[in-house]
Amino acid sequence: MSDDAIAIGATVTNSQLAWHPVVRDRYPVLSEATLSGATTQLRNMATVAGNILQRTRCPYFRDVHASCNRRQPGSGCDALDGLNRGHAVLGVSEHCIATHPSDMCVALAVLDADVHTVRPDGTTRSIPFGELHRSPGDTPHLEVALEYGELITHVVIANLPAARRSHYLKVRDRASYEFALASAAVVLDLDGDTIRAAARSWYPRVTPSIAASRRIPGSSFEPRPSSSLSRETPSSEGWSGGTHGPIGPSGTESAMSS
Ligand SMILES: Cc1cc2nc3c(=O)[nH]c(=O)nc-3n(C[C@H](O)[C@H](O)[C@H](O)COP(=O)(O)OP(=O)(O)OC[C@H]3O[C@@H](n4cnc5c(N)ncnc54)[C@H](O)[C@@H]3O)c2cc1C
Ligand code: SF4
Repeated sequence: MSDDAIAIGATVTNSQLAWHPVVRDRYPVLSEATLSGATTQLRNMATVAGNILQRTRCPYFRDVHASCNRRQPGSGCDALDGLNRGHAVLGVSEHCIATHPSDMCVALAVLDADVHTVRPDGTTRSIPFGELHRSPGDTPHLEVALEYGELITHVVIANLPAARRSHYLKVRDRASYEFALASAAVVLDLDGDTIRAAARSWYPRVTPSIAASRRIPGSSFEPRPSSSLSRETPSSEGWSGGTHGPIGPSGTESAMSS
């Protein structure tokens, strides 16, 4: 930990992370997001790396009798015409509409964290958080940018003064022990009139490419110069249609703009 950044070990538990005084002070969005996940008992055991790399809760992925391109490439996707109320509405493909279950990841995306790893041969590298999770495309079974045997060692977050004014909003069917139907992590840089936002409901990529900037009415919105911090604005283009329930695009947009 320094004035410039914090490094979070891969085996730090979700509870340790969320309640750490420096995290609560510098990155309230990360503390809030982490505390909104699962239950106290689970958070006391779940690790940072495990939360980042947890796999989708799509019920068809977990049902070996269902067709699932993510579990068995080329077998089809039963969620497309199935019970998909909790599935993604952005960042999907015709091969997979699964969401990523993590709340913590939405906050790590908006904070532009870096994921540090070590490969089996001992070499190390740093992966921008926005490049860790892959879009489904036609290869939904390839979920992350890690190589075979590559381990996450720690996550680094720069000390962003604006992140002290941040918030995580999670929309779900009940207030505890429930995955999000839509969620948004927001950092407000009011001095710079800049909002940076990451929304999760359109996983699988909780990344800058699917995160969004929203302009504050009346402000002069300017994305930060770093390409990693610039954002696409969500539009109706890319929303998946189909049988999504009431949360769908409108619910996600509401979470983003609240
Ligand atoms: C009932 C239930 C409800 C939940 N609700 C939520 C929720 O609302 N929001 C939320 O965000 N999460 C939720 N979770 C997820 C939970 O918070 C844990 O993050 C998740 O279960 C992962 O557990 P774990 O940390 O023990 O990881 P593990 O299960 O041990 O690991 C997960 C994966 O990551 C890999 N892995 C672990 N560490 C490393 C590493 N260092 N390098 C490379 N690979 C690694 C493992 O091999 C494995 O493939 C829920 C879980 C359950 C069971
Ligand atoms: S949405 Fe993805 S994970 Fe779910 S059944 Fe379809 S291919 Fe499998």
